[in-house]
Order: sequence, then structure tokens, then C-alpha cells
Amino acid sequence: MKLLEERILEEGQVRPGNVLKVDCFLNHQLDVALLDAIGEEFYRLFQADGITKILTIEASGIAIACMAARHFEVPVVFAKKAKSKNLDGEVYTSVVHSYTYGKDYDITLAQKFLTPGDTVLIVDDFLANGKAIQGLLDICQQAGATVGGIGVCIEKGFQPGGALLRKAGYKLASLAIVDSMSDDALTFRPQD
Ligand code: 5GP
Repeated sequence: MKLLEERILEEGQVRPGNVLKVDCFLNHQLDVALLDAIGEEFYRLFQADGITKILTIEASGIAIACMAARHFEVPVVFAKKAKSKNLDGEVYTSVVHSYTYGKDYDITLAQKFLTPGDTVLIVDDFLANGKAIQGLLDICQQAGATVGGIGVCIEKGFQPGGALLRKAGYKLASLAIVDSMSDDALTFRPQD
């Protein structure tokens, strides 16, 4: 997606540990017009996949999921990172290793919000080693829900998450795939 690639080139900053900082438009300050275009693009890519629910993980995935949901006209449900006293009833849980914080955390989702009748579009901001998405896939499996697709804004193609998910047969769409990055250069994988 050209618009997203341009913004990454203009405002992205490469940080130690292969972290791409895009907090000007995606991770802290939010460019709603850009997010709207991202939501529309996910709709174009997954509209034929029978999506009944959009699933993401807090916090950065939520805005992306909401903008996509406006086009799909389905609910958004997000996995919570903190154990909340507010979650009533039974919950699905999974453990995710955080790329940016370097430690494991639990994710939780109330069982009533994901059922075997659902066909899910999983969305997130970044795909690196794939641990966050694997946690969401685990929750879909626990729920007996069908995974209709996975939509990611920025895939770091030099890390293994994307290749693993494609090999496992998932329909994965990454709107920008960064093939290499350093302090002074960043290249994207050509896409149709
Ligand atoms: P994974 O679980 O695929 O290894 O990493 C994906 C998760 O880690 C995303 O939810 C995102 O929050 C975070 N992440 C991974 N790499 C980056 C990065 O380069 N920049 C930012 N801002 N977040 C990242």
C-alpha cells in the first residue's frame, strides 16, 4: 500500500533491536485518514471471506480493527493484556512473548465474544516473529472459530513470522513489507 510505505519512509525511525518506530501515525499519535484508508484496504482484500468478527490485541491494534470494522459492519473484539477483575464468566487465555518488551504476558478474551459460528479477521499493527498473531490464533482455536484471514499493517519481512503463517496456509495480507532497514535506508518488498 503506497500511502503507508510513503509515511514509513517520511516518519519511521529505526531503533536498536530492529524496532521500527511509527508513533507519529500508528502507535501513539494516530492519523485517522490513514487508518481509514488501511481499513478500506483490508475490506477490499477480505470482503469475500465471510468475516463475522474482527479480532485484535490491545492497544495499537484497536484503532486499526475499528476502522476496518466500519467497512465490514461487524463487531471488533480485542484480547486484553492485563488480567481484569471486570471480565465476567469464562475466558480464553494464551501466553505471548512480547517483541518490544522482551517478556511473556497473558492475553485474555471473554468466551462469550468468540464462538464456533464466527469467521475471524485477525488484524495487528506489526508482524515480526509472529508471537502476537500466534496467541490470537490460539484463542480462535480454543473458541472453535474459523480464521478467515490475517491483516497486518507492517510486516518486517526479514523476521520469520510472515513466512511461518503463509507456510501454515493462512491468508495473510501485509500492507507494507519491510525487507531491510538501517539508520539511513529502508527497503520494501515489491507488491502488486
Ligand atoms: P511479533 O509478536 O510478531 O514478534 O511482534 C508483533 C508485536 O510486537 C506487535 O503487536 C507490535 O506491537 C510489536 N512490534 C514488533 N516489532 C515492532 C516494531 O518494529 N515496531 C513497533 N512499533 N512494534 C513492533
